[in-house]
Amino acid sequence: MSTFFHSIRFRLLLWFTAILALVLIIFSAFIYFNQARDLEDDALGQLERRLAKLQETVRVSLREQNGKLVLPEDVLEDTEVLALISPNGQVLASYGTFPTSDVAQIAKQATQSRSDHDETVENSASWVDKKSAYAYAVVPIFGESGQTSLLALGGPLDPDGRMQGLITSLLLGSLLTLLIATGGGFWLADRAMRPVQTITHTARSIGETDLSRRINLARKDELGELANTFDGMLARLQAAFERQRQFVADASHELRTPLTIVNLETSRALESRRSPQEYQRALRVIHSENEFMSHLVNDLLTLARMDNEQVTLEKVPLDLSDVVVDAIDRLTPLAARNNVRLEAGDLPETRMLGDYQTLLQMVSNLIENAIKYIDGNDKKVCIETGVTEGHAWVRVSDNGPGIDPEHLPHLFDRFYRVDKARTRDTVDESESPTGSGLGLSIIQWIAQAHGGEVHVESTPGNGSSFEVRFEAL
Ligand code: ADP
Repeated sequence: MSTFFHSIRFRLLLWFTAILALVLIIFSAFIYFNQARDLEDDALGQLERRLAKLQETVRVSLREQNGKLVLPEDVLEDTEVLALISPNGQVLASYGTFPTSDVAQIAKQATQSRSDHDETVENSASWVDKKSAYAYAVVPIFGESGQTSLLALGGPLDPDGRMQGLITSLLLGSLLTLLIATGGGFWLADRAMRPVQTITHTARSIGETDLSRRINLARKDELGELANTFDGMLARLQAAFERQRQFVADASHELRTPLTIVNLETSRALESRRSPQEYQRALRVIHSENEFMSHLVNDLLTLARMDNEQVTLEKVPLDLSDVVVDAIDRLTPLAARNNVRLEAGDLPETRMLGDYQTLLQMVSNLIENAIKYIDGNDKKVCIETGVTEGHAWVRVSDNGPGIDPEHLPHLFDRFYRVDKARTRDTVDESESPTGSGLGLSIIQWIAQAHGGEVHVESTPGNGSSFEVRFEAL
């Protein structure tokens, strides 16, 4: 229950009811005062007309009765009061049950009214006494002797209790409206907030690993938009989670094979006495696997840092050709060991904005790949740079075996290798360790972090060419 009082539904309802109540109060007050004014106008008009009629009867009576006021029966209504008031404010005669306290008041008011009367209304005046809820009208009566008295007629302002009826109607009407509107408001607020409950329930039912659930709210309003955003966020989370899971699974799989091999080789070597050649072979295998693992762990760490945005690039204006010259210098010994000719092609000034060390890593990785996968007799790797149509580019091409077109779309996927026979599931005793399948992912990340992209052109048997394009300075 306490959650209900804290809910948006309740607050919406409260505000809605309060505003409606205020509107009803203003509306009722407007109607009430309007009606009261109409009632006063009606009462005064009627009184004045009645007084005009009575004036003659009173005049006749005063003349015939020698100055005394004797009225024929039924001249006055039951609720009406009539008074003859002397010019000095004394009540000479009165008819009907006068609200006693009012008599003096009428005399005072009448004389006052007289003194500041408007000539155009022939010395007559009318007013409403709010305290007694009576309306009064006065007219001057000119006696035989020329003496002037005042004739005052009073009647209840609201003899039929119209205002009381109006108050009751307004009160009941307002209460009923408020009741219906509050009920309707509650229903509406409940209906409007129901999708929020759906969203909450779905969010609650999503476990740590079950990110496949969606809200699927088929609405085009703000809540539909919220649910869609939420679904989009879930989809992204699921994809990220899946990538992470796959990454961990692949990394474990990659590490399992070399670890098994190392285990196998050491057990075999320790089983019984072996010849020095056999120990040497075992150590070579262990060394090779160890190198592979350090390479893999290094690549994994680099990718993890890149994924977590821990790699900060300090971009400065630089010449891409300088990076290439540096990379060639570093890798010439490796190329020589593998009988590969490393050739610097055209290296014109290629200005761009970039992080020198990261770009050096990218170019080095591309050259290393070319050296690693090249075969045949005349092994040659050529590196060029240039600026074309506002693009600064670097190209590493080799005359190696090339890559089948079917592999090209997956080349940049993590752990993807073209040659499945070299996936470490088999014991490889060769000196050159196979790659981790992460090299091109790292290259692509570096290219994209510099706003660039990697293009591959390769024909099986005719070599490959990797080109990275950036925006030129
Ligand atoms: P690795 O770390 O195993 O080298 P990469 O992501 O760098 O992985 O490369 C993925 C695959 O692309 C490699 O298995 C290899 O078969 C292929 N590849 C990359 N560069 C070349 C190249 N210059 N010539 C032929 N194949 C290549």
